[in-house]
Amino acid sequence: MAAMTRRAALRMAALPVLGLALALARDLAAFALPQRCPGCGVAADPEGFLCARCRRAIPRLETALCARCLAAGRDPIGCRVHGGFSVRAAWIYDERAALVVHALKFQERPGLARALGETLARALPPEARPDLVLEVPLHRTRRRERGYNQAALLADALATTLAVPRWPEALIRVRATRAQARLGAAARRANLAGAFRLAQPKALAGRSVLIVDDVLTTGATLEACLAPLEAAGARAKGLALAWAQ
Ligand SMILES: [Zn+2]
Ligand SMILES: [Zn+2]
Repeated sequence: MAAMTRRAALRMAALPVLGLALALARDLAAFALPQRCPGCGVAADPEGFLCARCRRAIPRLETALCARCLAAGRDPIGCRVHGGFSVRAAWIYDERAALVVHALKFQERPGLARALGETLARALPPEARPDLVLEVPLHRTRRRERGYNQAALLADALATTLAVPRWPEALIRVRATRAQARLGAAARRANLAGAFRLAQPKALAGRSVLIVDDVLTTGATLEACLAPLEAAGARAKGLALAWAQ
């Protein structure tokens, strides 16, 4: 599709009116032309983004991890100490998962998030089904920059698929944290400790809560989100679309 879009854009570039006309042409081309799978180039349903074959080829994470042990650099599998920090991921991050995550994060794709509700739901064994779904919040400054929170879109999709209630903004990011990407594991953890609080902690006592994020990396973000939930007496777990080991 990229080649066709470029050709359409070149045709438009010959016209005296640029800028807006070019943007309109790109939108029209993207709308009118069949969508291609960015993983392998075959025709694919635009909602699903990747073709079914590429989506099935992404490795699944079959086991639960402990976010607290992961964040502390310990073996995250089989922990029996930190019950309130159990997290799962639908996928193990690979180049196909990376395409999906990038599209979710940087090109507004609400349809794509909707199509991932099933993928997220399949990662949950029956006993991990929640009665309430929350999202990992973005700080409002970053949310303003991006215009949306991709974790919230995924949480919406999962809640719809499971037909369970959704509580947006139940968790609040108290302070903006430094960009995480360049920090080591210990620095990430220190950066995030105390970064989240609950809007109404009492309302969550005893509830079975699932908190959704796009990518699980060092576990520090989900650990920091699960800490106030555990303190509030919720039975909380985390779920990410992909685990980037
Ligand atoms: Zn494909
Ligand atoms: Zn643990």
